[in-house]
Amino acid sequence: MTVPKTFRRYTLDEFIAYLRTYIGRVKFPEVHVHGTWRPTIAMYRSKADPSFYIQAMYRTHTQVNGWSDIAQHATIDPDGYIWDGRPLTVAPASATGFNDSDYDGVHPFMFEMIGNFDVGCERLEGAQLRTAVGLTRALADMFGSRIVFHREMTSAKTCPGSGIDKAEFVAAVAAYRTEQTEVKTEVDVPMTAEEKKQFTALQATVEAQAKRIATLEGERKMAVPSWAKTAVDAAVCAKLIDTPDGRSEDFYSFVTIMHRKGLF
Ligand SMILES: [Zn+2]
Repeated sequence: MTVPKTFRRYTLDEFIAYLRTYIGRVKFPEVHVHGTWRPTIAMYRSKADPSFYIQAMYRTHTQVNGWSDIAQHATIDPDGYIWDGRPLTVAPASATGFNDSDYDGVHPFMFEMIGNFDVGCERLEGAQLRTAVGLTRALADMFGSRIVFHREMTSAKTCPGSGIDKAEFVAAVAAYRTEQTEVKTEVDVPMTAEEKKQFTALQATVEAQAKRIATLEGERKMAVPSWAKTAVDAAVCAKLIDTPDGRSEDFYSFVTIMHRKGLF
């Protein structure tokens, strides 16, 4: 039986202040960036208790994986808060062969971001993105940590998610203004009943248009062209379409235009 553990939730500024107390006590040559994949942001939002999935990860890591503690030093939730994890003086369970687990006070800092950030699924944005970038920048500034994505340490994973571009993330960390805390961020607002109605209507429109275009085109079917891939992935993820392949060029143009207009 695992002894229950209490996890504390910090704002980015609070967590940076906490990290600062470790300067000289521990060295983080690298910061390892992960995305949970499961739980997804939607799963996280479905629970009233914000610590539900932090505890669930703790139980899985200790009881199923048999680790001494939760794998990561920190978890960034979809609201941009940081939950603490295993002690900062202990090496993480980040990636086999890359954890530097020899108790010499030198090891990577590991954080998880809750969400499925593969292409076409959920997006790292708003407060969560700001905290991920701000935390990474703080680690780089205080400990000289080099940014490493989980997928760079294994070919078996897309982690932190194929939708997160490493070069873009690194550029955002470099551009992050450490003195300015009130950066404008997009905030995700749940759909209202009226918006849900509009969304359902949109779904119907997409299918109706698809049928009409297919008829007009005499069923000239093709695979998803590369220029439409992002939009089509997003449409699949949003459950607007379930058979992305074998549609006409006009259908792919239509989906791309709708996606560019931010309709899904
Ligand atoms: Zn990972």
